[in-house]
Amino acid sequence: MKDRYEYIFGPVLSRRLGRSLGIDLLPYKTCSLNCLYCECGPTTNLTLERKEYVPTREVLRELEEFLKQNDLPIEVITFSGSGEPTLHSGIGEIIHWIKGHTPYPVCVLTNGTLLYRSDVQKDLLPADIVIPSLDAGDEETFRRINRPHPGLSLSQLVEGIRTFRQAFRGNMPLEVFVLPGINDSWESVKKLGERIRYIKPDTVQLNSLDRPGTEPDLKPEPIEALRDIKVALESQTGIPVHIVVSQPKQHRLKTTVSPSLRGKILSLIRRRPSTLDQISRVFLVDPETVEQLLEELQGQGLIRKVETNRGEFFTTKEGCSKRSGAERNTQTTSE
Ligand code: SF4
Repeated sequence: MKDRYEYIFGPVLSRRLGRSLGIDLLPYKTCSLNCLYCECGPTTNLTLERKEYVPTREVLRELEEFLKQNDLPIEVITFSGSGEPTLHSGIGEIIHWIKGHTPYPVCVLTNGTLLYRSDVQKDLLPADIVIPSLDAGDEETFRRINRPHPGLSLSQLVEGIRTFRQAFRGNMPLEVFVLPGINDSWESVKKLGERIRYIKPDTVQLNSLDRPGTEPDLKPEPIEALRDIKVALESQTGIPVHIVVSQPKQHRLKTTVSPSLRGKILSLIRRRPSTLDQISRVFLVDPETVEQLLEELQGQGLIRKVETNRGEFFTTKEGCSKRSGAERNTQTTSE
């Protein structure tokens, strides 16, 4: 198997989706938002321009090759990675190909900012799961957390998600990222609840930090506070609210290392900083073997360890995916 793919990564263990093969359609770091909590670091290309950022044909070629050779179980194919996937104009063609050539459900993790556009809606309608995000119920909090492109507003975002919800026949949970002292006051939660009631998602997924974010001082929301917010939102909206938590599955772990494992680990952690334990569970390799490999990669100057109050995370030397020229629920990583 090829050591390193340019556009395909994982499969990663997602807290929400299970074993998920990732597709990354954006050069680092292209997004319509610049969220405080982004695990990929600051947005360097803050844009609303929709275009073919990487060649659609190459993505399909890699995907086909990966699926022919892959020996790890996959439960879903997910669009996520170094930015907002709906900015790529070929996403509809790629979803269409996956639905026609593979048995896997397709999930799109989106910040929802382009869902007001009819072409984006049309592209995402064949997907099985679309998970947009909404972190704020008022414009000021939206600007503070998500730091959007100047051409965006909260009301446009909310209208876009609602319009898509009305047309989409698949499963549409709404993700809400909670940050202590920023959007967890009762007033903020009430305003969020009003927007959620208007959108009518299937469920709400409450998330908080589990990997390093853009701003180093951010802390995860305590689980007790998440439980209180869940109860408040459910009683206000009547919509089920789930707290995203790790639910490790038990697998027999390998002690031998395949020649491609180094490349797979690099491919994973350059998009999603991960702990040793997370890497072990993603690739079903025992922790001691992973530790040895990580030490080797550190010794070669290819990766670095980041100490946070949530543990030690490994990432590539340059940080989240940085393909020159040319990505929230996991045991490892988000979505
Ligand atoms: S968290 Fe998602 S939407 Fe926010 S800046 Fe990062 S990639 Fe963009």
